[in-house]
Amino acid sequence: MMYDVVIIGGGPAGLTAAIYCARFKLKTLVIEREMTGGKAAYAPLIENYPGFPEGIRGLDLAQRLYEQATRAGAEVVFPEEVVDVDFSSKVKKVVTRSGKVYEARAVIIATGLAKKPQIRGVDKFLGKGVSYCAVCDAPFFKNQVVAVVGSDERAFEEALHLQEFASKVILVTHSKEVSAPETLVEKFLGKNGEIIEGYAIEVKGSNRVEKLLVKKDSEVVELEVKGVFIEVGEYPSTELFKKKGVEVDERGFIKVDSQQKTNIEGVFAAGDCTGRGLQVVVAAGDGAVAALSAYKYIKTALR
Ligand SMILES: Cc1cc2nc3c(=O)[nH]c(=O)nc-3n(C[C@H](O)[C@H](O)[C@H](O)COP(=O)(O)OP(=O)(O)OC[C@H]3O[C@@H](n4cnc5c(N)ncnc54)[C@H](O)[C@@H]3O)c2cc1C
Repeated sequence: MMYDVVIIGGGPAGLTAAIYCARFKLKTLVIEREMTGGKAAYAPLIENYPGFPEGIRGLDLAQRLYEQATRAGAEVVFPEEVVDVDFSSKVKKVVTRSGKVYEARAVIIATGLAKKPQIRGVDKFLGKGVSYCAVCDAPFFKNQVVAVVGSDERAFEEALHLQEFASKVILVTHSKEVSAPETLVEKFLGKNGEIIEGYAIEVKGSNRVEKLLVKKDSEVVELEVKGVFIEVGEYPSTELFKKKGVEVDERGFIKVDSQQKTNIEGVFAAGDCTGRGLQVVVAAGDGAVAALSAYKYIKTALR
């Protein structure tokens, strides 16, 4: 099972890379462990992806990306998880949970982010009031009360963005100390923001989010909120690649240059797993650049 390019991860970055690789006439395989479309498939409505003035449902965009990649000629297998890789020689090996070994001249890693926030109810209400992306979903919470779970600079930035829409934003520190610049914290508090030093334990509701339970000191406080934005427990899905010699930064994001090249020849990375943007449009752009780099590498460096 020899391919020109194996792409690990079938989100927007991986599927865009697949469209480009297949159109370059490279024999291309995408391996996806869950469903194609990645995190974008969870977005109720994507309003900031160009070309869709009325927005597009995440699931619809996911389906279109899949169709476009397969129509261009890429093979896509899912659900199938990559559990091991060997990047030590020119021919790369990619091993899946079902025991298949795929060989490739080049590999594009597009495994995105994983989140394990340890808050009950988060998975159940993802896309139904729970969101991982304030920039994407804040407009859905106009004049409503929402909570942000997190304590760092990014959490406060998300909270400030939410304040442009929500009637009130409550930030729950999740047992951590606030670690954002003072100016951000002051700005947040100055706009009717509230900080609760507590631990978010459960998101509750019937069809959509209605409450967030927070343990504060020894009591449990019930916050009546319509949205919960999670800014904790997120990490790049890159552990496997780090073990196999791919360089990552201190947060675990794969280090790439402007051509999406990693430190290993013939191995490229794209999208959220590189820590840039955390947006569909950026992931797609990265995927296109990674595909072009893989094509050039196969046509020149490998000759
Ligand atoms: C609820 C929600 C709403 C969002 N709304 C918006 C929005 O409105 N606008 C916007 O621009 N962005 C939005 N985002 C963010 C956007 O979805 C991501 O930035 C984008 O999907 C990143 O694409 P990616 O391909 O890099 O990673 P992902 O979409 O995370 O895809 C990575 C894929 O790799 C797979 N994978 C991981 N490890 C393995 C493995 N070992 N083997 C095989 N497969 C593997 C995963 O299953 C996943 O499908 C939203 C995200 C969420 C969760």
